[in-house]
Amino acid sequence: MQRLIIRLKNNPKRPQLSSSATSKHAPCVTSVRVNVTSSLFCIHIMPGIDYSLLREQIPMARVLELLEYEPLERRGDQLRGPCPIHESQSAKPRTFSVDLAGNRFRCFKFQAQGNQLDLWAQAKSLDLHTAAKDLCQKAGVEVPWVTRW
Ligand SMILES: [Zn+2]
Repeated sequence: MQRLIIRLKNNPKRPQLSSSATSKHAPCVTSVRVNVTSSLFCIHIMPGIDYSLLREQIPMARVLELLEYEPLERRGDQLRGPCPIHESQSAKPRTFSVDLAGNRFRCFKFQAQGNQLDLWAQAKSLDLHTAAKDLCQKAGVEVPWVTRW
């Protein structure tokens, strides 16, 4: 079925699918053409990552879990404890604050702040793109690739 439709489309001598007997295939042609085109061009597309979709799929709480973070204080959605970026887990200061609901962190010692992906990148000393791929792998989530044209 697919082969037949592609051949019809690529043969210029064939009339455009209209009122002929082949017209019943017309609705298929567009979708088949799109599929073929995208599969040919996909090879050359530079992949990017949809960071906002990634943050939707991996909340701050999951990142803290993967960092094996143990807060000293928990009040609702607010956590306080040692900073996983700048201090070892054995230290006792409360320089690090997390808003689980807002998916934000703040380090009062070094004025660092950001979202859960920033936290993963800084705690692991990775650039954002590498951190995103690494975080998805650790969290068992498929990387939300986007295609740039
Ligand atoms: Zn810090």
